[in-house]
Order: sequence, then C-alpha cells, then structure tokens
Amino acid sequence: MKFARRCKPGDKIPSSGKKVAIIGAGPAGLGAAGELICYGHEVHVYDMLPEPGGLLIFGIPEFRIPKEGVRKGVKELIELGVVFHLNTKVGEDVEFEKILNDFDAVLIATGTWKSRRLNIPGEDLEGVYHALEFIVDYHLHKYGYSEHAIKLKDRVLVIGGGLTAVDACYLARDAGAEEVYLIYRRTREFAPAGVREFNKLEENGFKIYELTQPIEFIGDDEGKLKYVKAIRMKLGEKDSSGRPRPVPIENSDFTIEVSAVLVAAGEIATPPFANEKYGIETTKWNTIKTDKEYKTTRKGVFAAGDVVSGPSLIGPALASGKKAALSVHKYLETGEWKWIE
Ligand SMILES: Cc1cc2nc3c(=O)[nH]c(=O)nc-3n(C[C@H](O)[C@H](O)[C@H](O)COP(=O)(O)OP(=O)(O)OC[C@H]3O[C@@H](n4cnc5c(N)ncnc54)[C@H](O)[C@@H]3O)c2cc1C
Repeated sequence: MKFARRCKPGDKIPSSGKKVAIIGAGPAGLGAAGELICYGHEVHVYDMLPEPGGLLIFGIPEFRIPKEGVRKGVKELIELGVVFHLNTKVGEDVEFEKILNDFDAVLIATGTWKSRRLNIPGEDLEGVYHALEFIVDYHLHKYGYSEHAIKLKDRVLVIGGGLTAVDACYLARDAGAEEVYLIYRRTREFAPAGVREFNKLEENGFKIYELTQPIEFIGDDEGKLKYVKAIRMKLGEKDSSGRPRPVPIENSDFTIEVSAVLVAAGEIATPPFANEKYGIETTKWNTIKTDKEYKTTRKGVFAAGDVVSGPSLIGPALASGKKAALSVHKYLETGEWKWIE
C-alpha cells in the first residue's frame, strides 16, 4: 500500500523547518504522513498500538487485507524520515496539550475505537465481549505483541450487521468456536456489510438469524454468560437511516445456550481528549467537526478519517488524510486560517 506518492526514499527534499504531529497511524494518518513528508515537513506520528496501520493491521483480517503491503508502505515512510511514536496513547502517555505546544500543526486521525453498547441486562457478564476488542486482541496475539488472546469454544453468538460482525464470525471460528451464529435485527438487504458478505458467511457454514435482536444476557451462578434471550423482529416504517425500523414481535422471545457473545453494534469516534476539548468542537456522535478543508475549530489543528466521518471504509479514510495534509501544508506555508463551509 503506497502512502507516499509525491516522493521516494533518496529524493533530496528541502526542509520546510516546520513540525507536524499526526495522532493515529491508520490509513488516514499514514496517507497524511506520506504527503507531508514529501513537502519537507518534519512528521511525527503517535499511535497507541505497537505497530502502525490502525485497523489495516489490527482490525481487518489478513484474508481481506494482506499485511505485507501495509508494512511495505510504512517501511517506505520510515525511510523517508517519518518518526513513529508507538505504544503512545495521546491523552494518557503524552498530554494532548504538549503536542499542541510542541508542533506547528496537528492532525487528528484517531478513528472510532469505542464499541457501542446494547444497554441490555447482563452486558457485563464474563463471556460478553465487544467484537472490536476481541478482534484487536486476536491480532495483537497473532502478530506476537501479546501472550494472551481470548479463547472461544462451543457455540458463539455474534451480534450485528456490519463488517466488524462479519469478520468477528470468521475470527471466532479461528479462536476456537465450534459453532458461530450471527444475529441481526434487520434482513441482510439492509445490513451495512451487504448481502454478499452475509451469503458468503452462509456458504462458509455460519448460521444467520435475521430479524432477531438480543434482549438479555443470562449468566450462571458464577456470573458467566450461559444464555442469550432474543426476540424476533419484523420490518416497520423507515427510520432516520432510511431503512425499515425493526419492530419486536410480541411473545416471540426465545433463549439460546452459548459460551460467549461478540457484540458488534457499531463503533463510536474517539478523539484524543475527553472533557477538556481545547476549543475543538465535536458533534453529538463524538466525531470532530471540521470544515471542507479538514480544519477543526482550533487554529492549527486538523482532523481526518473515521474520527470525522464516523465508521467508514479504507478508501475514504486514506483520501481524507491526503486531502487534509494538503490543507495542513497550505496553512504551514501561508499561516492563513479561514473556516470554509
Ligand atoms: C473489523 C473491521 C473490518 C473492516 N473491514 C473493512 C474492509 O474490508 N474494507 C474497508 O474498506 N474498510 C473496512 N473497515 C473499515 C476501515 O478499517 C476504517 O474505515 C479505516 O481503517 C479508518 O481509518 P482511520 O485512519 O480513520 O482510523 P483507524 O484505522 O481506526 O486508525 C486510527 C488509529 O488511531 C490510533 N489511536 C486512537 N486513539 C489514539 C490515541 N488517543 N492516541 C494515539 N493513537 C490513537 C489507533 O490505534 C489507530 O491506529 C473495517 C473496520 C473494522 C473494524
């Protein structure tokens, strides 16, 4: 995967004398780093994980995105002079304020790393995992960064209709589950992952329950998950997403025995700051508000990728990182700061 397009290692690039910090080494952050280094800026990328790549390495399974290409692209960035600060969570290991003070411009590309909860009884029982955490844990172990990984067995239920849910099914089997069921509250025609991915799951021996929603997780005497209570749904009027609203069918609930569940009910944007927002406005979805040129509401701070758009795809995240980099470069050259709706 090519992150730097304008230059190659060995090119003589005059230094601009400016320093840029990029927070987040996913496709948005890496795409931006590839542009900014070629403009002659000093580029520092901070990431909480032990290897750059974000979801390209730790989220999306190998069969979809071969890691070799991502690693080759990162190696090229390092050869070009991009400095990576890994295992460094901004807001915890290094203060966001320090980054603001130490750099001429900052680009936030921290993605959506918080799992949405279902808010049903039993969600904190042992054996109830949020799918993204399970997936990241799986890859940290697979690539030798952690000794422990979540082990699954017997029947595992995955809840959701997006790519995270689909990939969690494949990885659950890899992690030891003998039977994997996917339950989704609408039908596959309305699933974010698309009909093809659902069909492929079935072709690969996964069972799918459409129009089904969990309503309770039930534990045994030791507080370990034992059953999932679910209810059948029907499709109603269109909701704000433009898809038919799933409506529970009265008295249709049933219980199924499971050893674990993986909840993939969506992800929420995670800017690298919590309460104090440093003058950077966020939306009601916790995404960072930007103008057309990826400028936030604070001078010198830009944002790109899923932390701006909400959960999206690799292509748009990479493209937005590159476009944001152009905007950062323009700002560093001219000092101009004008919000463009
Ligand atoms: C399981 C799964 C499967 C997917 N499959 C596909 C697919 O097949 N095709 C596709 O196009 N898209 C897929 N996507 C979506 C795609 O991966 C994302 O849209 C894309 O990676 C977003 O890029 P990003 O750079 O904005 O964020 P991310 O890739 O999430 O990168 C953000 C980076 O920021 C870092 N970070 C977060 N907070 C901090 C902090 N405070 N300090 C330091 N670092 C921080 C994270 O460690 C991470 O490396 C999938 C997503 C998931 C979860």
